[in-house]
Amino acid sequence: MSPEIFDDYYRSRYGSRWEALKKSLLETPAPVSYGDGLVKPYLLDQASVLAAQSLRLNEGGFFLDACAAPGGKSLVIASRMGKDGRLLSNELSAERRRRLVNVLDAHLDPEKRKQVTVSGFDAGREAGRKSERGRFDAVFLDAPCSSERHVLADARALSQWTPARPKFLARRQWALLSAAFLLLRPGGSLVYATCALAEEENDAVAARLFDKYGEAAVRIDPPDFPDGEKTRFGRIILPDLSNGRGPLYVARFYRIR
Ligand code: SAM
Repeated sequence: MSPEIFDDYYRSRYGSRWEALKKSLLETPAPVSYGDGLVKPYLLDQASVLAAQSLRLNEGGFFLDACAAPGGKSLVIASRMGKDGRLLSNELSAERRRRLVNVLDAHLDPEKRKQVTVSGFDAGREAGRKSERGRFDAVFLDAPCSSERHVLADARALSQWTPARPKFLARRQWALLSAAFLLLRPGGSLVYATCALAEEENDAVAARLFDKYGEAAVRIDPPDFPDGEKTRFGRIILPDLSNGRGPLYVARFYRIR
């Protein structure tokens, strides 16, 4: 495959904006140093901080970060938790899970670290176990995605890219989002985030929540940060218009029943 196919795909979505957006994606990201409530600061994109901060946490709840490694957003969630909160940081890949444990160990104080447990289940299948359904007060899903910024930076990934990739990822994202919804208790907060540019992996996946569970079961709860651009279900922060931050799509939902 040639890189032109990649360009054509995103140009068809972003039109004349694509060249400027692509240029911004090729620039080195400028992370921020997040240190609130941590024993040492962690470097991550400001957009990731906003995404993790948008999860609504009630006092003393049980929260799930469904796809957590390497762990930046788990640190933000953990740092916002009261002393009665508990966080399950889940990651399917054993190798990435080791990195997650190291990140949590190095940045959380011992008391906070005790409030965070690491698990390794397949978050897309977990809701198949009926006992797990409705178990969490809030669920954060930072789903595996096209990650175009990385594709553009990697000549081999770019040469292997085809339009089948976002399509395949959207199916996986839906399996994860649908499961995340079932793992959440009625009244709980669900955040769906990706670093993908394509609507197919963002709003189109979110739309399926309403198709499947209906408006009586789920409501849009727009993220309350003003950064980025409004989309049908949430906001997207793109580096060409956000001083290099992003890409990050964030949608927040409230489970009614
Ligand atoms: N939230 C992380 C952070 O802030 O550091 C980044 C998460 S990254 C976008 C997505 C992660 O999901 C990857 O580490 C990947 O290994 C993991 N993953 C992929 N499929 C999964 C699944 N079915 N269940 C749990 N984790 C999964």
